[in-house]
Amino acid sequence: MAFTNEQMERYSRHIILQEVGVKGQKKLLNSKVLIIGAGGLGAPAAMYLAAAGVGTIGIADADEVDLSNLQRQIIHGTADVGKAKVKSAKETMNAMNPDVTVNTYRTFVTSENIMDLIKDYDFIIDGTDNFPAKFLINDACVMAKKPFSHAGIIRFKGQLMTYVPGEGPCYRCVFKNPPPKDAVPTCKQAGVIGAMGGVIGSLQAMEAIKYIIGVGDLLVGKLLTYDALTMQFRTVKLPKADGKCAVCGDHPTITELIDYEQAECDGK
Ligand SMILES: [Zn+2]
Repeated sequence: MAFTNEQMERYSRHIILQEVGVKGQKKLLNSKVLIIGAGGLGAPAAMYLAAAGVGTIGIADADEVDLSNLQRQIIHGTADVGKAKVKSAKETMNAMNPDVTVNTYRTFVTSENIMDLIKDYDFIIDGTDNFPAKFLINDACVMAKKPFSHAGIIRFKGQLMTYVPGEGPCYRCVFKNPPPKDAVPTCKQAGVIGAMGGVIGSLQAMEAIKYIIGVGDLLVGKLLTYDALTMQFRTVKLPKADGKCAVCGDHPTITELIDYEQAECDGK
């Protein structure tokens, strides 16, 4: 595949990088990334991946754009209120880069559909905002041997880690089980500073890009936390993959996907 003149210009700032080059840009154009959740995290992640020329981007979300989303979900505009988030996201990504094929899935991820959703993708981005979805994505990615980026944001705080099969702990190795329903406030109840999605969602896009190109160190076996009020990034080294982990351990007890009961939380 030879680049057109337009592509050479569009991706020139990538191509000039020794770590990317024509080879890396071709890898991006041939790659497939699935973003689950077109909200605070998924919006910036989707925009940077589209801009970077990730050739196929899937986006899964069941919701419609709400006015209260716009403070942080910058892929949607005021005119998109009431529109399906996946449709609004696709329009923004297509307008940004015609090289990108956007596949939309207007659905919540469940134990019934997630294996089918993730199977054709090289890397998964967890842009969801609730624990049942986060554990479901982890367990499905472990079972399907798919790498993924986990992230969470609330108030002025954010965190992320990356799972690569066979290379480090999974989300469940670290966090074991979802907290009891309603034990943890949602963003709707607790609030979140809008730019937090931009910081952490962009870092998720960065992890996907590095994974695809095969450069640098991923947040595998590491948890990055960000406190916007003190402006501190910390990277905590995590213990190795837990041999007793219920899903990725030597004798897994979770062999079927679980739909945990969801707290009242809708990404709004
Ligand atoms: Zn594990």
